[in-house]
Amino acid sequence: MLTIENLAVAYKGIMALRGVSLSVAKGEIFTLIGPNGAGKSTMLNAASGIVPAMSGRILFDGEPIQGRAAHLIARAGLIQVPEGRRVISPLTVAENLALGREAAGRRGSEASDIDEVYELFPILAERRNQLSGQLSGGQQQMLAIGRALMGKPRILLLDEPSLGLAPVIVREVFDALIRLNRGGLTILLVEQNAKLALQTAHNAAVIEQGRIVHQGAASDLIDDPVVADHYFGRA
Ligand code: ATP
Repeated sequence: MLTIENLAVAYKGIMALRGVSLSVAKGEIFTLIGPNGAGKSTMLNAASGIVPAMSGRILFDGEPIQGRAAHLIARAGLIQVPEGRRVISPLTVAENLALGREAAGRRGSEASDIDEVYELFPILAERRNQLSGQLSGGQQQMLAIGRALMGKPRILLLDEPSLGLAPVIVREVFDALIRLNRGGLTILLVEQNAKLALQTAHNAAVIEQGRIVHQGAASDLIDDPVVADHYFGRA
């Protein structure tokens, strides 16, 4: 569904991705793990059209999308939940969700969409009229995911959804991702919590200094002593 071929990205001449190739199949959870600064966010941002590719190809359903404007990529169904959540604090939960629909070019309101989000995250239904700036970190993460879902993604990209959240909330968020995936949604997940990510995903790649250093079934990478040695210490 999403194929990245030999992708290179540089910031002011400094290489952040040095020829990355990976492929996310329809219906799977694919995770990209790796240390700080390895290039994980850059990968997602390049796929979403937020940062330009220097070379290489990004194919979404077989169509090259590199160079396309970010809003058009989102409208095509590739929607990213950004790191740090970025909910719009002075707006209510319901207003943030409505914006997610509009950002993806879907006009009007369809109650059933919002109901699906409220069913996935019941706390958002309880807080629907509350300003989102008043939500806890975990609730803001749920709202950010809900807002992305309102755009009806065909693939959902997530950047560090566990960041800064208490373990019980992380579990809730990841259970929701698994539910969404079982419902057919393809997910590309970037995580620093390698163990959790590999336990959740079907396939995975490990990125270091802008290069993929391991790739395979998530269950194989969990059992790989080199991966465990490098990445499970902190998780
Ligand atoms: P983190 O977990 O810290 O977000 P990451 O694996 O997502 O790390 P990236 O954020 O993609 O890594 O960063 C990859 C490299 O590119 C790093 O060396 C980083 O310093 C650099 N970089 C990222 N964004 C920019 C930017 N806007 N301008 C210049 N350099 C950047």
